[in-house]
Amino acid sequence: MSASSSVSAKTSEAYDVVVVGAGFAGMYMLHKLRGQAFSVRVYEQGSGVGGTWYWNRYPGARCDVESMQYSYSFSDELQQEWDWSERYAPQPEILKYANHVADRFDLRPDIQFNTKVEHAVFDESANLWSVTSSDGKTVTAKHVILATGCLSNARMPDIRGLDGFKGKVYHTGHWPHEAVDFTGQRVGVIGTGSSAIQSVPVIAEQASHLTVFQRTANFSIPARNALLTEAERESFRARYPEIRRFAREEARNGIYTEMPDRGALDDGDNERRSKYEARWSRGGLTFMSVYNNLALDQAANDTAANFVREKIAEIVKDPKTAKVLQPNNHPIGSKRICIDTEYFATFNRPNVTLVDLKSDPIEEITANAVRTGGKDYEVDALVLATGFDAMTGSVAKIDIRGRNGQTLNQKWAEGPKTYLGLMSAGFPNLFIITGPGSPSVLSNMIVSIEQHVDWIGDCIAYMRDRDLDTMEAQKDAEDKWVAHVNEVAYTTLYPQANSWYMGANVPGKPRIFMPYIGGVGPYRQICNDVAAKGYEGFAMTTAELAQKRVASS
Ligand SMILES: Cc1cc2nc3c(=O)[nH]c(=O)nc-3n(C[C@H](O)[C@H](O)[C@H](O)COP(=O)(O)OP(=O)(O)OC[C@H]3O[C@@H](n4cnc5c(N)ncnc54)[C@H](O)[C@@H]3O)c2cc1C
Repeated sequence: MSASSSVSAKTSEAYDVVVVGAGFAGMYMLHKLRGQAFSVRVYEQGSGVGGTWYWNRYPGARCDVESMQYSYSFSDELQQEWDWSERYAPQPEILKYANHVADRFDLRPDIQFNTKVEHAVFDESANLWSVTSSDGKTVTAKHVILATGCLSNARMPDIRGLDGFKGKVYHTGHWPHEAVDFTGQRVGVIGTGSSAIQSVPVIAEQASHLTVFQRTANFSIPARNALLTEAERESFRARYPEIRRFAREEARNGIYTEMPDRGALDDGDNERRSKYEARWSRGGLTFMSVYNNLALDQAANDTAANFVREKIAEIVKDPKTAKVLQPNNHPIGSKRICIDTEYFATFNRPNVTLVDLKSDPIEEITANAVRTGGKDYEVDALVLATGFDAMTGSVAKIDIRGRNGQTLNQKWAEGPKTYLGLMSAGFPNLFIITGPGSPSVLSNMIVSIEQHVDWIGDCIAYMRDRDLDTMEAQKDAEDKWVAHVNEVAYTTLYPQANSWYMGANVPGKPRIFMPYIGGVGPYRQICNDVAAKGYEGFAMTTAELAQKRVASS
């Protein structure tokens, strides 16, 4: 149903719900709300759907959760009919999937593309949000849902001279739509996180010379990507009910895999090594779930980290280069673990140079070179694989004003504060999908997105059924949740790393462990229990109560 045909839309400029963003979260949110007969307007700053997969078109971009699991489960027809070609689909195929979903569920009529939401202001006298976008128009909505993405605000590094560089500069998270050909060029890649680890082997095959500038070495496990056979797809499809149930309810990270029943130190050296070897050969993110205490116990973690460091030393022929590539300043898994295809082997190529920025930080970028340690590395093009202002970056770019004119940025100045990662006290009827305080980036995100979308849709319907005007997180429930999120994080090794989970990649950003590490299954249960108890910890008002509140304030 489009806005104009909704029962509750008062004018073409008034909606029940405004959704910001048309990635996987915004798309499913729209579908869900339309099914509940709400009028919805989605704003998307890009010219198409797909979010992450619309923006991240860099060479080698692909998912690192296997495609048969990194896909929607809300429609059985959809998951039965779509054919993933590879174990980890490349970006163009995931974008094609997003477009297929948009067409199949006729989403486009309610999405306004090329439009950025700039302001969202809560009007306490009317209990409505006024949403102003880059086209200069303002619409009102009872609810606003931020589906703005956790990794959607590309972070430009602050390096002296970058503006004066004469060659082309690309950010992996903002890659051009037209093909980029590095053939015959000297290319510099700055950063060695997941996007660099995926793109470096591909760029190395094209470039005449590739220089990789590394500040922090990262752990990476071979993806062992391969074409999927029809038999493999069929086997998955037949087992989907159980795979999806497990991912939602039992897995900590939303991925179907064997659950470890023992810790790394419960096995002897030989047994442990053979288990790591088996996972290394199998490839993929489940390397980290071989034991149940790798994220909790430093000595256990060391066994896995040492195994990977040894593998790097075996693969990389030059011992000096291998040493620089071996991560040594954080526990394995405490930064998002990477999945690669021939990343470490790429440093054996004669046309690839690794520069260690730990010993020689970048001094400046000149017109044609990157200068470190007093030496100029000449390049024709620069690839900035410098990541994102994660989890809060895109939200912070919107001027969001809640009760008493308080901005969300003011409220979150010392770090994001939410109840369940879904709402923030003082901002009624404003929801966040996979926000800080929820499992989010620690999980197969489509599992977490679907859980939030379903919970939010049900909550808004609950309000409508009871004539409730506002709902917002209560401050004490929020404080308790923030404390819980922190407490759980500090029982693990995660806070030891200077990771983007901690905001550590953005100078000046508060160091708070943002995602909820308690696990996807337990978290879902908590959210369900809260809803079953009439949305415990949330304050709800009827129109009458809300009027009184405004009158007395
Ligand atoms: C390279 C890369 C690989 C990844 N691989 C995986 C993976 O394998 N598995 C996994 O679980 N996760 C992965 N992720 C995380 C990924 O972001 C999520 O899986 C998922 O795609 C997020 O969907 P989303 O809709 O929440 O956000 P996004 O896809 O980021 O979409 C948010 C959208 O909101 C729009 N937007 C933001 N602000 C505004 C505004 N003010 N006005 C209008 N529009 C706005 C953006 O343009 C964007 O299109 C990956 C991320 C990256 C960057």
